[in-house]
Amino acid sequence: MYTHIQIMKHTLSTLPLSNSFVSLGDSFFSRVYPTPFETPAVLIHFNTHAAELLDLDPAIYSDSKLAMDLATIFSGKKTLPGSEPIAMLYAGHQFGHYVPQLGDGRAIILGETINQRGERWEIQLKGSGLTPYSRDGDGRAVLRSTIREYLCSEAMHAMGIPTTRALCIVGSADPVYRERIEPGAMLTRLAPSHVRFGSFEVFYYRNQFEHIRKLADFVIEHHYPQLLNEQNRYAAWLECIIARTASLIAQWQAVGFSHGVMNSDNMSVLGLTIDYGPYGFMEAYDPGYICNHSDHHGRYAYGQQPDIGLFNLSCFAQAILPLLSEEPEQAVEIAKDKLAQYYSFYIEQYALRMRAKLGLQDSHGGDEQLVKDLFALMADDKVDFTILFRRLSEFSTHDNVNNNIVRDLFVQREAFDQWADRYKARLLTESSLDEARSKTMKQVNPKYILRNYMAEIAIRKAEDENDYSEIGRLLDLLHNPFDEQPEHEHYAGFPPDWAGSISVSCSS
Ligand code: AMP
Ligand code: MG
Repeated sequence: MYTHIQIMKHTLSTLPLSNSFVSLGDSFFSRVYPTPFETPAVLIHFNTHAAELLDLDPAIYSDSKLAMDLATIFSGKKTLPGSEPIAMLYAGHQFGHYVPQLGDGRAIILGETINQRGERWEIQLKGSGLTPYSRDGDGRAVLRSTIREYLCSEAMHAMGIPTTRALCIVGSADPVYRERIEPGAMLTRLAPSHVRFGSFEVFYYRNQFEHIRKLADFVIEHHYPQLLNEQNRYAAWLECIIARTASLIAQWQAVGFSHGVMNSDNMSVLGLTIDYGPYGFMEAYDPGYICNHSDHHGRYAYGQQPDIGLFNLSCFAQAILPLLSEEPEQAVEIAKDKLAQYYSFYIEQYALRMRAKLGLQDSHGGDEQLVKDLFALMADDKVDFTILFRRLSEFSTHDNVNNNIVRDLFVQREAFDQWADRYKARLLTESSLDEARSKTMKQVNPKYILRNYMAEIAIRKAEDENDYSEIGRLLDLLHNPFDEQPEHEHYAGFPPDWAGSISVSCSS
């Protein structure tokens, strides 16, 4: 007879909190408390899926009194037992230029907890007021950007893409001054670690090499323990980070996601998608798609992301050179060797994902060209990325069934027909069965993604009417991106005409 395993559920006051990062010493962070809002804090939305990561008892958010407690805590008004709030120091390459000091200018880590599965989760408030790293900023986040990060990070997670998670949004009537006056909010986000490439760069450019080692040892011990016995653990670690970053970007490309601000301070050493700003999911396929309206030269355009990944990894490798070898020339050789693997990691991951998107089981010599030709046609005809792949999941290899639902997406119908004939022939080489293939393709080609207009509807309702219901509706929808959700069919269609006028930039 087995005993029943009981999972301990915590209230916020029993949540075991600590902060292992403070053991590094105060060269790595600043101790700073959140600055609560001046007007009352309101719990705008709470994500029960993320709450499970902290082993929080669902009872804590099913009661209105407790919702007030959550608003008080996650707006920084009340400090949780064990919390040692800090803002992290980092630097980074922004749009290709090194900026010697950035740091958490508006984010504060409250602490971390280790859940019953042994997972470490840091709890961070974003928009929680000034820190020593705020520079010219006000330390605040606007409700608009908070809703965007909340929804997108959860959408990415549901699609299996590594990301920070989002626990809740707390809002207030406090005005925040951007291009216009906007309501402020705080996002509580969770990640095993918020350490970035830039967390290492800051010490490299200050010649504080001992700090690089200390931070690397900390990250390896907590997040890459499998490397502790490696002979050159730092080289092995660099390789892991290169592989994870390559895989992450391949996953972004495979869902048409553009990060928008791929500065090296926005690159996680765990290979997570982090710091959602002016991101976007591409609609009409265009490798030059720029989601960030401040990115005038398209440095971070969709099609540039794989190359920018390598640029950022080179910045990171440069920063850890002192760990790779005592002999500077040898350190450079090791870094170069590791970086040289980036494209093969990337291509392998990308090809794997593209094959899955096309429902191909084996790998054939002509597959790459087949994919390229599809994308060339999609680019010419401005075909919607998400809708195309979802409809392609219903492609038929039978002569007596037409494929008009896919064909109708193209202007150049004959060119599509030629491509479709090649695709059909390719599927038949592996005796692909329509029904089974359709099922597996629908597990990788999402039906629902977070289009800008969808986030915009949730934002407008929240800003104009204090109506937060759309946030919950979208969160539920996006938690199941691959499932048919007939009641939400309208979200699976083309964006409305007004979506073209939405503009997102860095100012959030
Ligand atoms: P981001 O591009 O949003 O990742 O931000 C780049 C840097 O600017 C980071 O150091 C942020 O903490 C900081 N920052 C962005 N917005 C603000 C703000 N409103 N107040 C203070 N610092 C900010
Ligand atoms: Mg950032």
